[in-house]
Amino acid sequence: IEERYREMFSNSVEWYERGRSLFAGGITHQTRFTSPFPAYIDHADGPYKYDVDDNQIIDYVMGNGSLLMGHSKPEIIEAVREQAGRGTHVGGASTHEVRYAEAVKRLVPSLERVRFTASGTESTYLALRLARAYTGKTKIVKFHEHFHGWHDYVTPESGQALGGVPQEILGTVIVAPADIAAVDAILSQDNDIAAVIVECNGAHYGTFPLQNPQFLQDLQDLTKRHGVIFIMDEVITGFRLSPGGAQVRWGLEPDLTTMAKIIAGGQPGSAVGGRADIMELMAFREDPEWDNMGRVAQGGTYNAQPVTAAAGIAALDAIANEGINARADAMSQRLKEGLNEAFIQNEVTGHAHGISSIIHVNLGADCSCDRDICNMPYQQIYDTMPAAKTRALRRAMLVNGVDMMGGRAFIVSSAHDEAVIDRTTAAFSQSL
Ligand code: PMP
Repeated sequence: IEERYREMFSNSVEWYERGRSLFAGGITHQTRFTSPFPAYIDHADGPYKYDVDDNQIIDYVMGNGSLLMGHSKPEIIEAVREQAGRGTHVGGASTHEVRYAEAVKRLVPSLERVRFTASGTESTYLALRLARAYTGKTKIVKFHEHFHGWHDYVTPESGQALGGVPQEILGTVIVAPADIAAVDAILSQDNDIAAVIVECNGAHYGTFPLQNPQFLQDLQDLTKRHGVIFIMDEVITGFRLSPGGAQVRWGLEPDLTTMAKIIAGGQPGSAVGGRADIMELMAFREDPEWDNMGRVAQGGTYNAQPVTAAAGIAALDAIANEGINARADAMSQRLKEGLNEAFIQNEVTGHAHGISSIIHVNLGADCSCDRDICNMPYQQIYDTMPAAKTRALRRAMLVNGVDMMGGRAFIVSSAHDEAVIDRTTAAFSQSL
């Protein structure tokens, strides 16, 4: 397979050589590495991306989950093109930011107030700061392996290295198992906890799913009882699990919500929203004492940048009006069935599971789950899918014309049609 990979992606070698002398480790995001070298992508359209050898690759990375409608949806491209010609940064309050926030709020009713930020990492950073300021408390609770970006406060036990993260900050982060009794015990014993933050579909975009979605409701009730801010990180699940995200799908009302990816229509952008009494801590007031009284600072040159706003509005309008979520979910369901069929036909142990439009593959896992939510403990899932195996699977799939997210998942869009899904299933069967 490696030989075929080197042949098929031969023009990428030169780009990798150039990248290696420029970037730490040769790449600009950890997940972009594939051994022996990444395939360098030139352009993308619909469900496909095309590399420098002009291979057509069915894409399931989908902008790390930001492209629910596939690459280059014409309405979004047109909105971006038009706005780019009218100013990429208007340097003031803008009509774009108002229309953008209205489009977001229309889909997510729990957002009494919104603030735009520039990346998912920034949004969780701001939400945690707001929670600390509001409660006057210091610590946060996060869950084992849940990923909320790369700032210091969410790095522990998130699958990321800890180099450069101060011990003092690590001391303010409590990592809990996704178990309601354990969280109750933590919140009961420690009186200095400001917030609980959770990935709504489980750790690493559902690789290790929450085994029971009722857990989120229990968490909401528990945090309310303890006076702790409940933050739903909907960076992945927002506008995907339903047009209003996980919270609308499951009838939840978090104190704060973090959003990125789909909200910005493929441009860089994100947001925090939620209860007005918490969000208003960021308000400007003439009173000179206000800054010393707990006002929360938020800056950001690119907050609600007009091109992002234009792309975001176009994406959210499509989600509101075009049945995008149902379409992506149906394609995802077809893919899941096809992948599970491929395991059986090839007599390979393993399964595919997932809800909505993200499907995870557990190669080697013998599990009796319902294929929606895998009931294996996360350590066991990790053990059956070590990094070397995911790299091998990703390479085999690339040779068969498909790119998987991290070699373990498929992020499906409404641009993947039946024929594309069936080609993917055939490529998977071949790869097995
Ligand atoms: N939260 C979650 C749940 C995420 O999946 C991610 C990114 N994968 C982030 C936060 C961070 O977002 P960004 O990469 O835009 O900083």
